[in-house]
Amino acid sequence: MEWLTWRFVVHYGLHFFGPLLPALFFPKGRRLKAYWIMLATMLVDADHLLATPMFDATRMSVGFHPLHSYCAIAVYVVMCFLPYEKWHWPWWLRAVGIGLVLHILTDLQDYTLWM
Ligand SMILES: [Zn+2]
Repeated sequence: MEWLTWRFVVHYGLHFFGPLLPALFFPKGRRLKAYWIMLATMLVDADHLLATPMFDATRMSVGFHPLHSYCAIAVYVVMCFLPYEKWHWPWWLRAVGIGLVLHILTDLQDYTLWM
């Protein structure tokens, strides 16, 4: 396989299969739902629609797109650690936070390891 194909396979492999591992740490009855929620966090890439060009393989998305900004990332990290149970907030917000952090890490490796 060519280098660009490998980069694509690793990027989307992490996006789709990366959430499988953290999903295992959710209670048994919530694992599948947590996985789908983490997959759904790929929707943050909607912010690429605001950029021109929409996709640029040589551009670092982290710190460029609004939902990939460092402020947004800080919120995603905090979302992973909030005491949802204690505050009686929905448990799946943690899955959203974890999914978003994984998404950012995937985007980060796409630029830092392959460029
Ligand atoms: Zn992204």
